[in-house]
Amino acid sequence: MLLLTRQLVELVRGIYPGQERISLHEPRFDGNDRRYVVEAIDSTFVSSVGAYVDRFEHDVATYTGARRAVATTNGTSALHVALQLAGVRSGDLVITQSLTFVATCNAIAYCNAIPFFADVETGTLSLAPAALAACLEACTERRGGDCVHRESGRRIAAVLPMHTFGHPADLAGLLEVCAAWQLPLVEDAAESLGSRYRGRHTGTFGLFGTLSFNGNKIITTGGGGMILTNDESLGQRAKHLTTTAKRPHQWAFDHDEIGYNYRLPNLNAALGCAQLERIEAFVAAKRRIADIYAGFLSRTDCRFVKEPEGCRANYWLNAAICPSAAMRDRLLHETNAAGVMTRPAWRLMHRLPMFEAAPRGDLSQSEWLAERLINLPSSVPAGGGSQ
Ligand SMILES: *Cc1c(COP(=O)(O)O)cnc(C)c1O
Repeated sequence: MLLLTRQLVELVRGIYPGQERISLHEPRFDGNDRRYVVEAIDSTFVSSVGAYVDRFEHDVATYTGARRAVATTNGTSALHVALQLAGVRSGDLVITQSLTFVATCNAIAYCNAIPFFADVETGTLSLAPAALAACLEACTERRGGDCVHRESGRRIAAVLPMHTFGHPADLAGLLEVCAAWQLPLVEDAAESLGSRYRGRHTGTFGLFGTLSFNGNKIITTGGGGMILTNDESLGQRAKHLTTTAKRPHQWAFDHDEIGYNYRLPNLNAALGCAQLERIEAFVAAKRRIADIYAGFLSRTDCRFVKEPEGCRANYWLNAAICPSAAMRDRLLHETNAAGVMTRPAWRLMHRLPMFEAAPRGDLSQSEWLAERLINLPSSVPAGGGSQ
């Protein structure tokens, strides 16, 4: 066993005492969770109607500073509708990063569009403005009002960065490139609830941002998601499309377009309201763990992934960059064998069979990172989310 493994296992066991197997991330229900869920059950409004949905949307809008928040069944459905409303149509290309969870690209595919992969930067782990600009300059031209990929003749419809492990992307840089090319920005902020860029919440910079409340995210509704936007009319459109495009009426069933049954059930929203009350305590606990990992790793060959300059990261999943792929793989094997769960980052999207034919720019940084990244246990310790 590497000396590093032995010391890391000891460190992690100190953060999570009394746990035989330490998972990468587990939820905490130490607030009003049970109370609100039981209240939802007692009210009989457990499904597609109920006060908790409105309250959860209101609370998330207030917390993030977004003008409008629309609750959905999960983060993937939120992204699907956000992309559709950003103008992504069948046959379009959406520029995104290859270093992401598959849901980012699946949502593009649900619009019958195709991802175009641009590289990430090693500082943020997220889409690099320079790589984005290089792809646009090398591969596209303006035709009429559109930005067209020369080789395929497909329109570039949107730019979709993902705030990897909760570290904000270089939003100022990305917005500048998007403005120059007149492309809408949509943020996959599924992992970055609680993360701020220059004081403003991630997911509120683009035309849309989307959140996920899956069981492994910083707060959970069991399953759930949210569409954020500062455009009131787009917010209304998002609400309409995610609720079967039903026109408001006391009893008539009248639908004016093909909508989706993507509304978050009231039962899940109840849990979300309780979880959101704990978000700042969760972020604080995660930042304390990040400090511990940072201090430890500064004395090793591994580099701890720190929040970018001018940002507050939620440190949803702590990550380190190992000096070599071989060492990363050894660390993975040894920590997991010792009951401490660690994980590599996702297989790169352009390596998956359904996206391997997608167009792309240079992805050398993504490749480099994917071989060396390791995620470390990052749950809020039991009792550690209290003030
Ligand atoms: C979790 C996640 C999503 C959405 O996941 P759901 O399970 O559909 O809520 C989307 N993108 C990224 C990067 C994620 O990590």
